[in-house]
Amino acid sequence: MTATIPMNTTNGSRDAAASRELHAPEDHANGLPDAESNPNAAMLVRYDRAVRLLGLDAGLNRILSRPEYEITVSVPVEMDNGDVEVFTGYRVIHSTTRGPGKGGIRFDQQVSQDEVRALAAWMTWKCAVVNIPFGGAKGGIVCDPFALSQGELERLTRRYTSGIIHTLGPDSDVPAPDVNTNEQVMAWLLDTYSKHVGRHTPAVVTGKPIALGGSLGRREATGRGCLIVIEEALAHLGIPFRGARVAVQGFGKVGGIAAELLHTAGATVVAIGDRSGAMYRKDGIDIPSAVQWLKSHALLEGFPGADAITNDELLALDVEVLVPAAMENVITSRNAAAIRARIICEGANGPTTAAADPILDANGVFVIPDILANAGGVTVSYFEWVQNRAAYYWSEAEVNGRLDGVMRRAFGEVRRTADQHGCSMRTAAYVLGVNRVATARRFRGI
Ligand code: GLU
Repeated sequence: MTATIPMNTTNGSRDAAASRELHAPEDHANGLPDAESNPNAAMLVRYDRAVRLLGLDAGLNRILSRPEYEITVSVPVEMDNGDVEVFTGYRVIHSTTRGPGKGGIRFDQQVSQDEVRALAAWMTWKCAVVNIPFGGAKGGIVCDPFALSQGELERLTRRYTSGIIHTLGPDSDVPAPDVNTNEQVMAWLLDTYSKHVGRHTPAVVTGKPIALGGSLGRREATGRGCLIVIEEALAHLGIPFRGARVAVQGFGKVGGIAAELLHTAGATVVAIGDRSGAMYRKDGIDIPSAVQWLKSHALLEGFPGADAITNDELLALDVEVLVPAAMENVITSRNAAAIRARIICEGANGPTTAAADPILDANGVFVIPDILANAGGVTVSYFEWVQNRAAYYWSEAEVNGRLDGVMRRAFGEVRRTADQHGCSMRTAAYVLGVNRVATARRFRGI
């Protein structure tokens, strides 16, 4: 089948204000007012705060607040029943100031251009917070991956990769897994790109299978990063790790691994949840059994080792640590006041809306913001890219040891920035990240 791919390419033609106007101030599917449901608005509120604290000049602000490059592609796919469906895919490169665009690709029905824009900017600040030499990017396809066969997913991935092929490359734009994508999707992307350029190019994508040049430790990296910053935060607040009660929302690549590692390290994981609901056990859930359950059942639903609760109840539990590791906008102005956790570790990107920030701050909740808390994934993606380029592979102990060093250093830097400015950890992380990107931009010039 031949088809032409309509491609709209805009090159930073939209400013922050215009971007905020893209959405009418109406209620969205999740029932929140636009300012709370639009992740790009949420990103810009935090970014603006950092800009004010840094006294960033207007020109730099204009450059950094908008994406460098955006693509929208139509992705035609021949379905198993012979019909042709056309999906919409996005790739946004927010910044290449400090290095190639870097960031995952998600397959989800909620994907929108504004969401991908926000996620791309978050990658820029995240890479700068942990000080790895990448910019920020993100991609997504609007689809329900659970309704697609393996063959349909492969054709979708390959066609999307062809559509964005001109941005991709180890020195320009390096994708990775994100919500509902995995190492198999990355393998298809690698293959499509490598065939297109005529040479095997493992460094074009991270989060690949080990057999294709993936890094040991990458699969667990985001969850392990969460464990490390939780250890740091508990120590900072003088709360013992052993027996600390933890609630984890999301039981996939981030939440599932974080729960396992926290359990093994001696914390008491009292609640877990996924899209089928949540569950609670006062004395702690046997996480290895829950992981085992998931291997034979697609969802946590029905797991006999805990009592069913709702995801809203999970968020409001009396625990030391809450780990929202599922989707955006779960902690909002509506439920923030009900949160009793001492620490929130944002395993997901954007789980807290900007309107919830002041409520959590006023209640003394110590928030480890997403751009620090979940940076373990992209940090090991960086290690994977380095190993691919050197064609020399590290032991898992070496990967984990280096990740530990990066995460603890970043946590310390964000905490000192917070002390210096008398601000929250979230604002401090933005100050640190935005400042690093602004400094690099100043040297580069326009
Ligand atoms: N999708 C992950 C994130 O949001 C990882 C990105 C990457 O490794 O490039 O941080």
